[in-house]
Amino acid sequence: MTIHVAKDRCVGAGMCALTAPGIFTQDDDGLSEVLPGRQDGGGDPLVREAARACPVQAISVDEA
Ligand code: SF4
Repeated sequence: MTIHVAKDRCVGAGMCALTAPGIFTQDDDGLSEVLPGRQDGGGDPLVREAARACPVQAISVDEA
């Protein structure tokens, strides 16, 4: 699994960091970032929840 955040689309709603705090954080501008070393999702089932929760579909999850 590879997680990607489209920062040009992210509006800083923070739903991802609230939903999966072990994977996502927000940078100084409030935009979503994947925590260092967590790009693979770490097997966290909340990743898909977070992707669904994003109001602008900025999070994509590549299953490959
Ligand atoms: S939920 Fe979506 S818009 Fe909100 S911070 Fe996360 S990626 Fe950005």
